[in-house]
Amino acid sequence: MRIGVPLEIRSGETRVAATPETVKKLIGQGHQVVIQKDAGVRASQPDSAYEAVGATIGSAADVLGAEIVLKVRAPENTELAQIQSGSVLIGMLDPFDNQNIEAMAAQGITAFSLEAAPRTTRAQSMDVLSSQANIAGYKAVMIAANEYQRFMPMLMTAAGTVKAARVLILGAGVAGLQAIATAKRLGAVIEASDVRPAAKEQIESLGAKFVDVPYETDEEREISQGVGGYARPMPEAWMKRQAALVAEKAQQADIVITTALIPGRKPPVLLHSETVMQMKPGSVVIDLAAGRGDNGSGNCPLTQADKIVENNGVKIVGYTNLASMVAADASALYARNLLDFMKLIVDKEAKLAIPSDDDIVTACLMCRDGQAVRKN
Ligand code: NAD
Repeated sequence: MRIGVPLEIRSGETRVAATPETVKKLIGQGHQVVIQKDAGVRASQPDSAYEAVGATIGSAADVLGAEIVLKVRAPENTELAQIQSGSVLIGMLDPFDNQNIEAMAAQGITAFSLEAAPRTTRAQSMDVLSSQANIAGYKAVMIAANEYQRFMPMLMTAAGTVKAARVLILGAGVAGLQAIATAKRLGAVIEASDVRPAAKEQIESLGAKFVDVPYETDEEREISQGVGGYARPMPEAWMKRQAALVAEKAQQADIVITTALIPGRKPPVLLHSETVMQMKPGSVVIDLAAGRGDNGSGNCPLTQADKIVENNGVKIVGYTNLASMVAADASALYARNLLDFMKLIVDKEAKLAIPSDDDIVTACLMCRDGQAVRKN
């Protein structure tokens, strides 16, 4: 089949949906691959690297007109208009955005959104949320270290001792756990919390202290289990107790990294404005939920999307696309996720063969031949 890989045009998006490594494999499987000119440049992959493995370089119309289009982000209207009816689009297509799904259906295409893949062992190699959240968790600590005007590790020098930074991590899923591991390598002292009880053991196994907000009712205990590995919104009483404990811990912290998300909903507010006002001057907040809350906020109401704002001497970083700041590795992992997913919908003769009984394919399918399949 003819596979097209466009240059991503969303503001701030630097990733690319295929790398020379994955293109080589696709060509080996019998496909033809056309890459838009400069599609990989911001991810350190020049056109020549794709040509060297057998791809051709083309225009936006060439790649968007292919039978299978591999993208990072959901297409803008101008891009969608160029995707041919009957072709297949695969990417991170915002599965909770019904308007977006309707628009793709109206174009007559079949679209797969990989964020919707189940969190099962078989789907792990296609799990784009994990591959990209892992990178975001790492980069969050790198940015925090950069913005923080003190050392991360404890140091004993001839001029005296420097204390280790205290890092508080709220939300210990894929991004939060990677943030713990990265901050630990830098020598910080870490505390972390999550609503899911399974997170305690994972937090402690990485050498951090678990911040426990005990459940007081059966309802709280039941909701905390989540669904499909994801969190559900906790009752207000639990959120209040969590906020009080977070306020206490945040006052002692030098760096707070928030990563809490609930699929299809606004992120929970974990770091209240009053708490930020009580934090030490010079502390840094990295809000990985930035841009998903009201008015571009995240887990903190003071966060502003894609900005660093300062409140009472506390810096709040609201970058919304940290994976794009590690574009080469983020693209390498993402491209492998797509390559593995492709194996499920293309047969050995390199022809499209979309199964109707595969749980991963069914979960990711947003629209088929112009019919919206998923409704949120
Ligand atoms: P996510 O990005 O949806 O959310 C990030 C974290 O925020 C989660 O751990 C969530 O529990 C937490 N959170 C939500 N509300 C909170 C609150 N009020 N207070 C504190 N924390 C809150 O989640 P994710 O990182 O994508 O991972 C979700 C789960 O799925 C994790 O347990 C992860 O280990 C698991 N997972 C399993 C597989 C697999 O089995 N193949 C793959 C990936 C992830």
